[in-house]
Amino acid sequence: MDIVLASGNKGKIKEFKSYVKEFNILAFTDIMEPFEIVENGKSFKENALIKARAVYKKLKDKNMVVMADDSGISVNILGGKPGIYSARYAGKNATSEQNLDKLIETIREKKLKRTPAFYTAAIAIVSKRGEFCVHGWMYGDIIDEKRGENGFGYDPIFIPLGFQNTLGELGEEVKREFSHRSKALELAKIIIKSFARKK
Ligand code: IMP
Repeated sequence: MDIVLASGNKGKIKEFKSYVKEFNILAFTDIMEPFEIVENGKSFKENALIKARAVYKKLKDKNMVVMADDSGISVNILGGKPGIYSARYAGKNATSEQNLDKLIETIREKKLKRTPAFYTAAIAIVSKRGEFCVHGWMYGDIIDEKRGENGFGYDPIFIPLGFQNTLGELGEEVKREFSHRSKALELAKIIIKSFARKK
């Protein structure tokens, strides 16, 4: 079964491809002209559904299944910020590096070296069978300096619960075992597999 991913984020596409071996994962830009999707929802769930619906609407083959991930990092002491604004924390067209630097700067201003945070992933599925949305979370701390080169986005400052190293240091395989995205994907896979079930 072909699953079209409504994302242009290279880090996410890479993770989806390595986490989901059962289906053929395509980026939407592989099968259609890239277009801008305005993410004006008020939650991860709303934004994930907005993205998946926009791509499904443009699909020629309505038998294909569209999956969209909306995710981000929430820092407890910042009242959950950047949350759904994680991709634009340092401004509308900010790079991942600029967003990361802004978060480091913000916690340094608060004189914090290490503080609790968590990642959320909402995965929306839009198909001829209907619309669905599932979630996954990963808890831990963020620190005030970058460590390691693995992962993407905020991974160089995120230390998962029970570890002393950042996701940037721990690497892809460790992250895959318990990340917000893998947890949500496990649930998404159950839904997508049920579409193909014969009995
Ligand atoms: P979205 O593409 O609008 O969902 O934005 C998600 C943003 O949240 C990304 O640009 C990253 O900055 C951040 N993010 C989400 N998941 C992860 C992750 O697994 N690692 C690091 N950063 C993440």
